[in-house]
Amino acid sequence: MLPPIADRFVAGESIDGAVAHVRDLDDAGIASIVNLLGEHYDDPEDARADTEEYLRLLERFPDTAHPPSISVKPSQLGLNIGEDVFRDNLARIVEVAAAADTFVWIDMEGHETTDATVRAYEALAEQHDGGVGICLQANLRRTADDVTRLGDTAGKIRLVKGAYDEPESIAYRDGAAVEEAYRHLLHRLFTDTTVGIAVATHDEELIEYALDLGDQYDRDYEFQMLMGVREDRQRELAATETVYQYVPYGSAWASYFYRRIRERRENLRFALRAVVDA
Ligand code: FAD
Repeated sequence: MLPPIADRFVAGESIDGAVAHVRDLDDAGIASIVNLLGEHYDDPEDARADTEEYLRLLERFPDTAHPPSISVKPSQLGLNIGEDVFRDNLARIVEVAAAADTFVWIDMEGHETTDATVRAYEALAEQHDGGVGICLQANLRRTADDVTRLGDTAGKIRLVKGAYDEPESIAYRDGAAVEEAYRHLLHRLFTDTTVGIAVATHDEELIEYALDLGDQYDRDYEFQMLMGVREDRQRELAATETVYQYVPYGSAWASYFYRRIRERRENLRFALRAVVDA
């Protein structure tokens, strides 16, 4: 069972927990992006099992004012096993999602997966006009070229700082350089492209910058943040902006939870306090 301290960041182990969270967020004016936790599979059966679970999840999505979407990880759908395995599983999910009018995000993982992920996105975006989105990472030097390549594809681009520890030769490693790259790329998304834009950050300066760009340019854009991180700000923003919360669930919650805890010392204090108070 999910321990009470993990439920700040993870919406339970089952579809029931995810669906309940989708409903709660909807009441607060926030839409969900639901992610089944799981990654780096080497066995095609594991990738197939998660694909089937996503199909069951899509069937269970409630009819809400702010329709939920899903986000999948390439290595969860079998990219480590083969690009064809990943593409087949992803295509099954996108087909069912499209029939239900549900948007599908493709998360971005380490740099060795970027090319295959971009190829899969391009192919699907062409088939399913506007129903698929991809995440691009500001820390990767190549992302400027990826914005050029994908900027007029029918779909959406989610811009993040990047969660993977990448080498200096291909990535900005210094926090200030990543933030600068993020600003530059976000500006380009608003001014040089026609895609839907998702501003996925908890960084207040970048949120303010995005709000300024939103005032200046008449573009479709949304904010995205993680469950359990700056939730007050999410609710405040949702009064005037489109806000999505990334909602992970599933039995593989432990590594995700510890990653969130390690990111911030105050989260560690929160976790320890929960243990002490239990
Ligand atoms: P940071 O500089 O890390 O944080 C800015 C501020 O946010 C901090 O000062 C703090 O106030 C607050 N904050 C940040 N993290 C926490 C926390 N854990 N607890 C409490 N407060 C916190 N990365 C990928 O590589 N691929 C993906 O597909 C991907 N998808 C994502 C989807 C969404 C919706 C989001 C929000 C992030 C995603 N990321 C992804 C992660 C991203 O790359 C960053 O690692 C992560 O968002 C932290 O960067 P930040 O922009 O929030 O800035």
